[in-house]
Amino acid sequence: MTQSIAAASGRTACTKCGGVGIFYDPRVEVGRYGQLQLCGCIECRCGGQAPYRYWDDDSRSQWCHCRSYRRKMTETNRLFRQADMPERYKWKFIDDFHIVAPDGTPIKLADTVHRYIETLIGAEAEPRRGCLLYGNPGTGKTLLGCIAINELMLRWTKPGRYLSLSLKYFQKLRDTYSEDSVRYGQTWQILEELCNMPYLILDDFGIQRGTEWEMEMLYDLVDARYGDERFTVVTTNKPLEEIKALSHGRIYSRLVEMCQLIPMDGPDYRLHQQ
Ligand SMILES: [Zn+2]
Ligand SMILES: [Zn+2]
Repeated sequence: MTQSIAAASGRTACTKCGGVGIFYDPRVEVGRYGQLQLCGCIECRCGGQAPYRYWDDDSRSQWCHCRSYRRKMTETNRLFRQADMPERYKWKFIDDFHIVAPDGTPIKLADTVHRYIETLIGAEAEPRRGCLLYGNPGTGKTLLGCIAINELMLRWTKPGRYLSLSLKYFQKLRDTYSEDSVRYGQTWQILEELCNMPYLILDDFGIQRGTEWEMEMLYDLVDARYGDERFTVVTTNKPLEEIKALSHGRIYSRLVEMCQLIPMDGPDYRLHQQ
């Protein structure tokens, strides 16, 4: 989180949390993993004990200022639990995207994409336009996409979801047509949840060996999100030409309208981004 939020809104926001009031502390100590914490800029007089009340100077019991932020923290934890992020990307934020290698060499393109994400999360209004990250494997596209979703969930306290466009996903959809499956009849429920998700990352676009039916399902999802102007990150290792060929170009034409195209080519990212 950066100072740009403050700059955009004209407020003097805290440089640590950007005015959100909570931040992720990645420190791992004995018996404790990284966790969300109340930022020092939020005045707390209750000692952090539920129900978050304190006695004021006139011996009156008052609600503590920290209460709404602690609620937000509980909600944010819930959102992160439900986002289906792969474990290694679950708590990654902008500072986890490196723009220089450990030896100090700048990583090609990293600075540009880093700035793009910073602008996205620092904006005063919630972003509607997502991004299509494309380039050869190992350039940190999934990491960057997950960072964008995580930052937005933290900033706006709204749900996000990670979806790998693997065969498994399409199998799950296909199961909804099988009377023997526990998912029988849930096709629309699964799709609707994804269509309505405020922030969504579609990882590994284009690896599926598109049957007509799979492409139709994918088009419906993309088209619904396009129609509702929902923030979508798409990552692909495929050349754009191949994405253009899917579903007679209909998917690609939607994607370019709803996403900024960000090339992420380079031989060396993976080495530096872990
Ligand atoms: Zn703060
Ligand atoms: Zn308090």
